[in-house]
Amino acid sequence: MLAADLLYEGKAKKIYRTDVPSVLLAVYKDDATAFNAQKRGEIVGKGKMNCAIAAHLFRQLGAVGIPTHFIDQPAPDQMRVKAVTIIPLEVVVRNIAAGSLCQQTGLKLGTVLKQPLVDFYYKDDALGDPLLTRDRIALLELATEAEVAQLQHMALKINTILSDFFQQCEITLVDFKLEFGWDTHHQLLLADEISPDTCRLWNQAEADPDRRILDKDRFRHDLGDVEAGYAQVMARVLAQARSHP
Ligand code: ADP
Ligand code: MG
Repeated sequence: MLAADLLYEGKAKKIYRTDVPSVLLAVYKDDATAFNAQKRGEIVGKGKMNCAIAAHLFRQLGAVGIPTHFIDQPAPDQMRVKAVTIIPLEVVVRNIAAGSLCQQTGLKLGTVLKQPLVDFYYKDDALGDPLLTRDRIALLELATEAEVAQLQHMALKINTILSDFFQQCEITLVDFKLEFGWDTHHQLLLADEISPDTCRLWNQAEADPDRRILDKDRFRHDLGDVEAGYAQVMARVLAQARSHP
């Protein structure tokens, strides 16, 4: 990897060009940020753990027909992906009320939603990734109505698959964030990452509301044992992937 090939450095990954224009190399970092990068730190081993978790989840999704950007994992913290034009929307699927949904609606933490909720946020750090309405997505021309419907449909399908997968790991998938992009054939691909940085994951063996948390909320709220939470997710995901290849 040459510094000259660095296309973009984000908060969690460095994206490099490769010899093949349609292929990028994503290098997962240990850096952790929260609250729109106001809180910064490091989670030792996170790059490798998130890369391994994301690789397995992308493989699982690909196997059941969800098109993803994942190609392969040439090193523990590296993923080769298909280059896409990222749609600047964070597509969030929620099964249980937590985080900003509780703050903005008054719903109690842990409320099981009658049906999954799909929220769209504007992927724009300078604006603080604000919650969007369908009309604002149209106003800003971020996606057409048909594309929004397609994103919603794919996100709900992914939710069903991932919820089922994590259930087998005895983990509850509370909510998660997805990013999608267009490849050169104008196909919509699931991109970016799926990891404890981007999901809320609760250990079903723990009833305590702090102890059950296995995701970035441990870092956000200084709950300690952050690495242990990520390691627990990785161990269960890899064990599940091995028993159901
Ligand atoms: P951020 O700081 O925006 O969270 P990350 O460090 O998570 O960024 O990721 C780096 C960037 O790579 C993000 O802007 C993300 O949208 C982008 N990205 C992810 N997958 C792809 C892909 N397949 N093609 C192009 N860009 C991608
Ligand atoms: Mg990111």
